[in-house]
Amino acid sequence: MKVVLASTAGFCIGVRRALELVLKAINDNPTKIYTYGPLIHNPQVLELLRERGITILQPGEEIPAGLVVIRAHGIPPQERRLLEQAGGRIIDATCPRVAKVQAIIRRWAAKGCATLIVGDADHPEVRGLMGYTEARGYVVSTSRDVADLPDLNSLIVVAQTTQSECQFEARVREIAARFPQAQVFNTICDATASRQAEVQELSRQAEALVVVGGRNSGNTQRLVEISQGTGIPTYHVETEQELDLVEISRYQTVAVTAGASTPNWLIGNVVNTLKHAWAFRPGSWTNYLYRAWRFFLKSNIYVAIGAGSLSYTSSLLQQVEPQFTYFFVAFFYVYAMHLLNHFTDKASKLNDPVQTMFYGRHRRFLLVTGFLSALIALGLGAYLGPWPFIFVLVMSGIGLMYNFKIIPERLARSTGIYRLKEIPGSKTMFTAVAWGVLAALIPVVCSDQEISGATVIAFFFVAGMIFIRSGLFEIMAIEGDRVVGKETLAIALGKDRTFTLLVFGSLAFAAMLLGAAWAGVIPSLGYTLSLCGVYMLGYLLLYHRGLMESSLMLESLVEGNMILAGVLAFIWDPYNTVFGFQFSVFG
Ligand code: SF4
Repeated sequence: MKVVLASTAGFCIGVRRALELVLKAINDNPTKIYTYGPLIHNPQVLELLRERGITILQPGEEIPAGLVVIRAHGIPPQERRLLEQAGGRIIDATCPRVAKVQAIIRRWAAKGCATLIVGDADHPEVRGLMGYTEARGYVVSTSRDVADLPDLNSLIVVAQTTQSECQFEARVREIAARFPQAQVFNTICDATASRQAEVQELSRQAEALVVVGGRNSGNTQRLVEISQGTGIPTYHVETEQELDLVEISRYQTVAVTAGASTPNWLIGNVVNTLKHAWAFRPGSWTNYLYRAWRFFLKSNIYVAIGAGSLSYTSSLLQQVEPQFTYFFVAFFYVYAMHLLNHFTDKASKLNDPVQTMFYGRHRRFLLVTGFLSALIALGLGAYLGPWPFIFVLVMSGIGLMYNFKIIPERLARSTGIYRLKEIPGSKTMFTAVAWGVLAALIPVVCSDQEISGATVIAFFFVAGMIFIRSGLFEIMAIEGDRVVGKETLAIALGKDRTFTLLVFGSLAFAAMLLGAAWAGVIPSLGYTLSLCGVYMLGYLLLYHRGLMESSLMLESLVEGNMILAGVLAFIWDPYNTVFGFQFSVFG
């Protein structure tokens, strides 16, 4: 199935600004934070804000002490005065485009003009605008409303910013017929207008259209109405879980658009789910194949094999004879940490709903195998000696405690950091170091080899590969991570700078291996493994060009680099025998 994503889908600037102001307020203020009414019209985002301690105040409710954020839709000036009189701090997240409409109404109302607002009387933005009309405001949404207006001498007409163009034009024609003196201001926001125009365009390209967004979001509802008006089958969903994949898999081309308050992670999840809709055709063999691969990937078996593969490769880089025990320490450690961390990581349910659904379905099995794997990794570490045991114990401790409040209270209060995950860029760094220790250090401390330059290169080979891979996953998950307050590298540096860092990191990775092999610090395997750096550049480029969006395919490709390293090392391996024959191309 071809999935066409509307170029206008995603947060508009007003919603993005409101959300950023609230997230900044959460980080900067230890006090209780309230929003005056729901900040935006998206239940999934509001639920996350609630989990982060934000309380929604309803108009008329007693205003408690604390910090109050005014919603993106704005509020009437009378209610704002009440907030100010209550003495708390106020952050005004009113969208600048809504504020512009408020300013127009205020200016003309001061001259004695009446205001006609084309919109929905119950919408919070319209309620807010009415507050500026000096009691000379009228909301018109139907022809009947225009006919019922009293006689007016001087008047202006404005639109609710998310009103549909044709609805506005129709009302303006009727108003002009009755009040030729009316001054008309088309205040429909261009973010709304361009979204609506694109729906018309998409309805000509696709067989069906999916609109993603809150059911109480006015602008999302408008997109649904416009799409339905074109006659195309239209599906309004809040999340990908509401998609009827069996029905949708009948179409060859499906377009996706979204309301202005729909976060990119929800849109991305819908797009990805649709892209895999072919697998849901009842009775198709692709269905079984897809599910088998998804199990392999989402159960973390694939990434755990990758960890074992890196352990094997870094043994060879240090000229240590590979052992199955080294392989399995890395395998079980990574399997356990990935599983157990997922259950304590709130962001993953935003960023990877396919995995979350999978974990929900197999929760008990995964928890049991996760704990068992951690014990097996520790047991194997103990079997290998005191150092491997200490490495596994310390890395498991850090891995398991990552999402919990473990920083001492005094230090946490002065730094504002309560959990390891709140240290900027910590996840990328910790993951890279943990993998480096497990895969590169354990083989050498268990052998009769000294720690040498080759150990340093092997460590950076593993840590570098994991750093690039984790960095890319964090870029893809940036919105969800930001909402739940994770301090990833991508959040600390921003998407573009992180991406540039990853590109240079991949180049440095390849150069390090080539240089170390040329200088004789590591064996000739280093030349071959520099291909892994080229591979990383390749998937970064594919992602950057939009040729690989967040999906099972991209995940398979990225994690596949570890398997590639293992295969290249296997071909090179001088210790390797297959069916009794020495099997080594380069060694
Ligand atoms: S749709 Fe337009 S007016 Fe409404 S919040 Fe977004 S940018 Fe502001």
